[in-house]
Amino acid sequence: MRRIVFLAALLLLAGGALLPARAQMEVRAIRAGHLVDPESGRALANQTIVIERDPQTNRSRIVSVGPNVAIPQGAEVIDLSDQWVLPGLVDAHDHLAITYKEEPESWYYYYTIISDSTPLRAIQAMSTGFQKLASGFTIVRDLGNNGLYADTAHRQAVEMGWVPGPTMINSGIIIGGFGGQLYETPEMEATVYPEYLNADTNDEIVKAIRRNIHYGAKVIKVCVDCQAYPYTQEQLELFVSESANAGRKVSGHVQTVEGALRAARAGLWSLDHDNALTPEVHKLMAEKGIFRAGTETPKADWSRVGDREWERRLAGLKDAYEQGVPLVFSTDADYYIPGFNRGELSIEFLNTWKAAGIPNADILRALTVNGYRISETTETRGLIKEGLAADIIAASSNPLDDIMALRDVTFVMKDGKVFKKDGVVAPLDFFHNGPVYGWRKR
Ligand SMILES: [Zn+2]
Repeated sequence: MRRIVFLAALLLLAGGALLPARAQMEVRAIRAGHLVDPESGRALANQTIVIERDPQTNRSRIVSVGPNVAIPQGAEVIDLSDQWVLPGLVDAHDHLAITYKEEPESWYYYYTIISDSTPLRAIQAMSTGFQKLASGFTIVRDLGNNGLYADTAHRQAVEMGWVPGPTMINSGIIIGGFGGQLYETPEMEATVYPEYLNADTNDEIVKAIRRNIHYGAKVIKVCVDCQAYPYTQEQLELFVSESANAGRKVSGHVQTVEGALRAARAGLWSLDHDNALTPEVHKLMAEKGIFRAGTETPKADWSRVGDREWERRLAGLKDAYEQGVPLVFSTDADYYIPGFNRGELSIEFLNTWKAAGIPNADILRALTVNGYRISETTETRGLIKEGLAADIIAASSNPLDDIMALRDVTFVMKDGKVFKKDGVVAPLDFFHNGPVYGWRKR
């Protein structure tokens, strides 16, 4: 008996020792030579931003911003007095757990699908996220092609603070009519899953949406018209209502004008890829406030964009801008181009916006304000405002003068932690070892 009491006391002691000690709030202050406000399209000189971060919850908060803000005692001061400081960028359409590997194009998907396991692809997503963050992307919508939910695993690891990465808005598996986006042989029919979830009937659509949400999808991705049997407007409305039932929005891959019109009429959250987005579609999108994630590949020596495609693309982007469609920056840059990492490659897509003659301030709005809206993070993170999480970047020249200034992002803070400084990435701080209090799976 005495022995039992002794053991119980020992266990209590051990338990006590395991309780976390209250960690100190980390306090940082940024001296910003110029603070760019994407909402107004203007920059203010000599501003100070004070940030608090709780290492136990991995949460950060902008405490104050302004010209005469006192720096708290003991705060780590970050001197960006010769920089242009702005909020983090958003890529509204990419695929982090895939990198096309081999020529010719039609083989790309199949190589990844049959040769890369989901765990390997989750590690790839982390690596890609790392590269995107280094270029200033603090939020990415990851819209499918992730094996068996490598995207969810990546998002969870970022949220836990295990690895540095953008805030992830992930879709799980892309839902489509039989075959998804693939053109496999009957012998290889099984390769469609898990790249795509076949959903042909209404019951299958509901099941596919619930399955994705159950496994951690924050947004639903539908292939509207990838096969000869596109979804009807009623089916697309079912996508919207069933997803809304769980508080999720629907993003639609569209490639035909009819498909895009049906998707817009059904009230999808965003239409992705610009090929089918005609002035008629834009008009409807503007009326209904549907986001345009055009994934506008630039004409460059590394891209295969031909003259006609380029002219159509520029005219389309310009038309959408003039008609007042909510524009978001998006890339679909899920391939390897020698000489660029995935973040640098993503920034190159700004060349299309520049060539289309969109004003710098509006390109910056697409990259930030509209990016936070499509990601549904406006209440929690995005702008450099009191109360929001601290996702802050800096460039050495003014992006309002030339948006390509973002090629040279010198500083990245994610969730109050410094990820890149003086152009150098120093991530060791990010590899958090252990649980994060208050974090919930899914
Ligand atoms: Zn895509």
